[in-house]
Amino acid sequence: MAETTDMIEVTINKDVLVIGCGAQGLESAEAVAAKGYKVVLVDDGDVPAPASADIEVMANTTVESLAGMTGDFRTCLANGSGRSDRTFGAIVVAPKYGLAPLNEAYGLALDDKVVSMTQMEALLGDAAFKKTLGQGEGKTIAFVSGFGQEGDPAATSRVLEAALTVQKLGNARAYIYANNVKVGARGLERLFTLGRNEGVVCFKPLEKPAIEQGDTLKIVINDPVVREDVALEPDYIVVEEEVVVGRANLDLAETLRIDTDLDGFIPSNNVHRFPANSNREGIFVASTLEDAPNVALRVADLLASGVKSVAANAAVVDETKCTICLTCYRCCPHGAIFWENGIAAISPVACQGCGICASECPMDAIQIGDFTDDALKADIEGAVASVSGTPSIVAFCCQNSALEAGEAAKAFDTELPQGFRMIQVPCAGKVDVEFIMKAFVEGADGVMVAACHEGNCKAERGSTFAKWRVEEIRKRLETIGLSKDRLIFTTIASNMAEEFSMKVRMFAEKL
Ligand code: SF4
Ligand code: SF4
Repeated sequence: MAETTDMIEVTINKDVLVIGCGAQGLESAEAVAAKGYKVVLVDDGDVPAPASADIEVMANTTVESLAGMTGDFRTCLANGSGRSDRTFGAIVVAPKYGLAPLNEAYGLALDDKVVSMTQMEALLGDAAFKKTLGQGEGKTIAFVSGFGQEGDPAATSRVLEAALTVQKLGNARAYIYANNVKVGARGLERLFTLGRNEGVVCFKPLEKPAIEQGDTLKIVINDPVVREDVALEPDYIVVEEEVVVGRANLDLAETLRIDTDLDGFIPSNNVHRFPANSNREGIFVASTLEDAPNVALRVADLLASGVKSVAANAAVVDETKCTICLTCYRCCPHGAIFWENGIAAISPVACQGCGICASECPMDAIQIGDFTDDALKADIEGAVASVSGTPSIVAFCCQNSALEAGEAAKAFDTELPQGFRMIQVPCAGKVDVEFIMKAFVEGADGVMVAACHEGNCKAERGSTFAKWRVEEIRKRLETIGLSKDRLIFTTIASNMAEEFSMKVRMFAEKL
């Protein structure tokens, strides 16, 4: 592999756009402004006044379009006054989600006694209502949570806060029926203890409570400790809510070209995206209040003093070969490709060097920094030539996962076959047909493409591209007289050394 030596300095815009003025959006805007950057905070609704004077607020404003790259994002912001073109070095997305009550999961209809969590929170903000709860014998409020959906710390926090408020109101009593009280977030353990000390009763039944809704309300559970049915007739039942993705969030993700998870939440469920990254360099995500400091650090790391030093040759397009077919633009998972002087161009700041574009380009017009086609071919020749016995196996290993697993397997002396050789690739998405066939031509008995688990691929779709290619090549190997079983695709995480070794040994036995 060649060494990357050419570095260039890129000037980047230091203004930051924060989209969404929920609590985490406001907190992120303040945290970024505190690091000395100018922040523009936009929201499609009202925006409360931020504390920092360095934050420019644009209420009732949407991001109509986005062009450019990290360090030079060109946006069109639209509101009732018209449109304005603004340029930013980084963007922070603070998604806003809706809430939908899960009363049907409990066989309940909402009325004045069966209310959603949001409704109860509003009622608890009303002094007159609170007074009625604590007066005389006091009212009983039952919270049901975690049976309509898997519980989470945010939902737990709301239940604990509301139950504690109720319990402190004179003779009012709060009961929580929870499938799981998840306290894995800042302050929740303390909140849970506070509630318990105040007298909040928490049940954790093994099954969903049986609830009758008539003139009176009745909740029955089978207590797993005393092994008896325990019934309660509360005055109010408060049902949990699920978080729902609105159309506005999906539209925003499409405009910004950032990935969502299968349910439409931003960011995608990829370990490389947490805690504050998206698939696009320079676009960060603040999903919770806890993300705000991370977002500010990532923004400061990127924008620094407005100049960034990056490898000049992360990915380079040969303009004499490019036919402007748009393939690379469509398949780049990091939105790093744009058009310049009538051909594809790659932003050295946004490019992550995965190599997917290079493998997909029909004109072989793209070369990847340390992983040029020539360098990889030389690696393949060297790998096969260095093997004396059989079977010889060439494994193309993604440097984000399989390579580390393979190195650990070697270090732990896990009995890898003698003829096994690894070739480092930036992402399995860089392994194209030419390299696989080259390994066979050089004399490899077997070829393995080892990638990240799908959904945890750093390049989002590199693993998927690699799998498709291997499937296609396996179909065709028979036509040139090779068994399809001489080529396999596998996924592996970097901490799975033993499993990596086992997969290689099983492959070797079959060859
Ligand atoms: S895939 Fe290749 S030929 Fe097509 S636009 Fe990109 S660089 Fe040009
Ligand atoms: S190497 Fe990867 S990140 Fe860079 S332009 Fe190509 S596909 Fe995009």
